[in-house]
Amino acid sequence: MTPGDQSLTVALESWFANHARDLPWRTEPRDPYRSLVSEFMLQQTQVSRVLEKFTPFVERFATIEALASAAEDEVLAMWSGLGYYRRARMLHKCAQAVVEHHAGVIPSDIKSLQALPGVGRYTAGAIASIVFRQSTPIVDGNVTRILQRIHNNPSPQTDKATIQWAWAQAEQLADCAHNPGVLNEAMMELGATICTPKNIRCDQCPVRNQCLAFDAGTTEQIPPPKPKAKQKTIYCASAVVRNKAGALLVEQRPPEGMWGGLFQAPTLEDSSRQPTPEELGALLGCGPADLRERESFTHITTHRIVQFVLYSCIQTELPANGRRYIPEPELHTLGISNAQKRILHSLDTITQ
Ligand code: SF4
Repeated sequence: MTPGDQSLTVALESWFANHARDLPWRTEPRDPYRSLVSEFMLQQTQVSRVLEKFTPFVERFATIEALASAAEDEVLAMWSGLGYYRRARMLHKCAQAVVEHHAGVIPSDIKSLQALPGVGRYTAGAIASIVFRQSTPIVDGNVTRILQRIHNNPSPQTDKATIQWAWAQAEQLADCAHNPGVLNEAMMELGATICTPKNIRCDQCPVRNQCLAFDAGTTEQIPPPKPKAKQKTIYCASAVVRNKAGALLVEQRPPEGMWGGLFQAPTLEDSSRQPTPEELGALLGCGPADLRERESFTHITTHRIVQFVLYSCIQTELPANGRRYIPEPELHTLGISNAQKRILHSLDTITQ
């Protein structure tokens, strides 16, 4: 038996019609703006986390014009907690480009979509097919895994050749589909709920009788495990500084790199050792005796192990020096990483 494209698309499309989860961006008909926001949010992030942020985001920025004209700080604040903040900045730039070059109308053709900031082949394919019913494929980790299992292809999932193969397979399927957008959403849904990386639920799969890995009993081995990414250790010393009015001193990170563009308590970083209180004091314009060590914790991301030591500063007259004091109730208006939220919210327990 070989997987037949036509029967696969029929099975997937009819399964999706009956099993699609009710998600706030799956309106009928699909709204281009909400679809664009959801596609940016869903990159490398699970649906459950996106669900917490999606509705407040599209309520605050109800139209692409509202998003385009918002301040970047506010966009980052509404994105807070989703991680990978570069996506938020790109979505903001993408909205500005749509307003500037397309009169606020999200284009339907793949070429114009791919020319927008932050829109790669996957996102362009998703918008073109799901919103505008065009015959365009999409390939991400979910789709590659499903296709590899259906074809019993044991190649490493992230190899260039495997990805090229997956795009060719997905293109063939999109060409056979009754509605390519439904097919693409069905594959995303199957990958998220049934044909998952672990605990695969083949007993509920609509394409089980066409799946060569299921036949061969190799579903658990495909795709083979990825080599573990080496994590880099970073050492950070952060200081909680208040002025006499109780406002907090915060600084903005550079736009690129880890937590790019987000706000934080003044922080000194080093890749080889923990910064000393003397060095942190020099950064702030105070002496080491003005700093009290309060707490240490480790924050782990996919690529980094970040070791924080948290200090409070007993001085209340430190100049801002390019940073800014912000009243505590306004902290939520800034984009702040989860690690820095922990630092800034630990203030409740810190007395000077
Ligand atoms: S039968 Fe199992 S391995 Fe094959 S596509 Fe379905 S869920 Fe995935």
